[in-house]
Amino acid sequence: MSDPADGATSSSDRSLAASLRLIVGDAHVVDRPDDLDRAARTTASEGRTPRIIVRPHDRDQVQAIMRLAAVHRIPVYPISGGRNWGYGDACPPTAGQILIDLSRMDRIVSVDATLAYAVIEPGVTQRQLHEHLVAHRLQLWMDCTGAGPDASVLGNIMDRGFGHSRYGDRAAHVCAMEFVLADGEVLETGSPSSNVSARGRHVFAHGLGPDIAG
Ligand SMILES: Cc1cc2nc3c(=O)[nH]c(=O)nc-3n(C[C@H](O)[C@H](O)[C@H](O)COP(=O)(O)OP(=O)(O)OC[C@H]3O[C@@H](n4cnc5c(N)ncnc54)[C@H](O)[C@@H]3O)c2cc1C
Repeated sequence: MSDPADGATSSSDRSLAASLRLIVGDAHVVDRPDDLDRAARTTASEGRTPRIIVRPHDRDQVQAIMRLAAVHRIPVYPISGGRNWGYGDACPPTAGQILIDLSRMDRIVSVDATLAYAVIEPGVTQRQLHEHLVAHRLQLWMDCTGAGPDASVLGNIMDRGFGHSRYGDRAAHVCAMEFVLADGEVLETGSPSSNVSARGRHVFAHGLGPDIAG
């Protein structure tokens, strides 16, 4: 645990840091000024320093963080890889936000080689998905962007990015997303996972549930 004298400066910042440490553990809350300044480095003209950085491990922790942020009325900024060089890097849009770094949530939940889809957590990188396909000798190809290997797949989806195959339009092909909302509730897009007949939910975006396009 960092020494409070070196980290969060005000009592409200220290209280926030203590609450976040209870959620994710000491090692996954960053509040030392040097580390926060590093997160503000950018190729843009001006970087914005986050109030604190928190690295959750699972959805429950993300929900708890969102509830806490709502109580304190502090804006949050999620990153999945934080390698968005030239497009804002890992900088929140304004200073003083809680930077939620989702890179620890890096599980490849499943890959369906027949229907050609992967169920992944936000921190899964281009490199990781490629290596998984190779290691399991799956006859599938990771449609990478020109970004670095440690950029996340999800970050590119949220950027409405593109790969280089006929399925490269991320926003058009992403299905069955799970969002943690500002109040900590979870929203599933497409057909709800509770609907046992929704067997196509990972390949058909427009089920009974909501759509990220509105
Ligand atoms: C050299 C270079 C080449 C590139 N080539 C291409 C290319 O060919 N095609 C292309 O499409 N893009 C390209 N890009 C951009 C690239 O898509 C992004 O830089 C990269 O995919 C972002 O991944 P990341 O993990 O760094 O995202 P992050 O920095 O983690 O996030 C990117 C954005 O998505 C938001 N976000 C991330 N995770 C979440 C989440 N879980 N929930 C809600 N919002 C979230 C962030 O707030 C941020 O605004 C290139 C970038 C570089 C530097």
